[in-house]
Amino acid sequence: MYKADDLDLLLPSFKPYVLAVEAALVARGFQAIPFDTWRSPKEAAKYAALKVGQANSMHIYKVACDHICALHGWECKKNKCEFFQAYGQEVERVGMIWGGRFKSRFDAPHMQACTIADQDRVRTIADEVARDAFIRARLCKPLHAA
Ligand SMILES: [Zn+2]
Ligand SMILES: [Zn+2]
Repeated sequence: MYKADDLDLLLPSFKPYVLAVEAALVARGFQAIPFDTWRSPKEAAKYAALKVGQANSMHIYKVACDHICALHGWECKKNKCEFFQAYGQEVERVGMIWGGRFKSRFDAPHMQACTIADQDRVRTIADEVARDAFIRARLCKPLHAA
């Protein structure tokens, strides 16, 4: 069994969207495990060295979350499981950014609250309350409209 990471490590503006995606997947018969939420800069550097992440990852800023399939982890394709397709659809349905569309590195488990265009700005906001306010103001869609 996979261990779920703590969603309370995410910014309060972002967490409800993560929960909404998880609930939508349950309704479709899938179970998503929040495998990775916040990363320390040290952890991010380690992931970057292994080429499975970026040193300046959005996870450091608490605006990104990775999910995997409760049944297959990352290995859905060979199990003919459509988890990651459904995940991408639900992430985008609530107005979040899905890593499956990244040109730099296909990252199906990844969802984040800010657009690629906003990433550099988010990195400059050191204060967490201010960063949360920025994300809240920039969210593409209110959750109730999802
Ligand atoms: Zn699966
Ligand atoms: Zn990620």
